[in-house]
Formats: sequence, structure tokens, C-alpha cells
Amino acid sequence: MAAVPLPPLPREPLQVQCTTCEKVYIFDVSPEDFFDFKRGKFAQDAFPYLTNDERELMISRTCGGCFDAMFPETD
Ligand SMILES: [Zn+2]
Repeated sequence: MAAVPLPPLPREPLQVQCTTCEKVYIFDVSPEDFFDFKRGKFAQDAFPYLTNDERELMISRTCGGCFDAMFPETD
């Protein structure tokens, strides 16, 4: 039996507020992916279509700019 590729899941806008700078970010995610993420799926597996900064916001509620400020590159 040939594997039939699944159609892309519909995405809905999700609002996430950075707890540090309180800026609200909105990006489109599939509700099913979000459900998987809440159930413990790694963000990079649940949301391969998001940027690193967007995933960081989902994981830690910290936006890319604030994350860089908290954890500056050491080299
Ligand atoms: Zn921030």
C-alpha cells in the first residue's frame, strides 16, 4: 500500500505574549500540532514550519530578542 501524503493541516492564528517584554506575537499554527505540543511533543517536531524564535516563544514564552538578552552568545 502506497503511503498517501497527508494534506497540510489548516492553521489558525495563535497569540503568544512574551512574559518579559509583554509584546504579543501572532503566528499561524495547526491546532492539532499545538495539541501534540501540549501533550509533550518537542516544539521542533510539532512546529517544523515555525522559526526558532517562534518556537522559543511557544516553549518559554520568551521572544527571540529577550531570549538573546538573557542568554547572550559567549563567543
Ligand atoms: Zn520579549
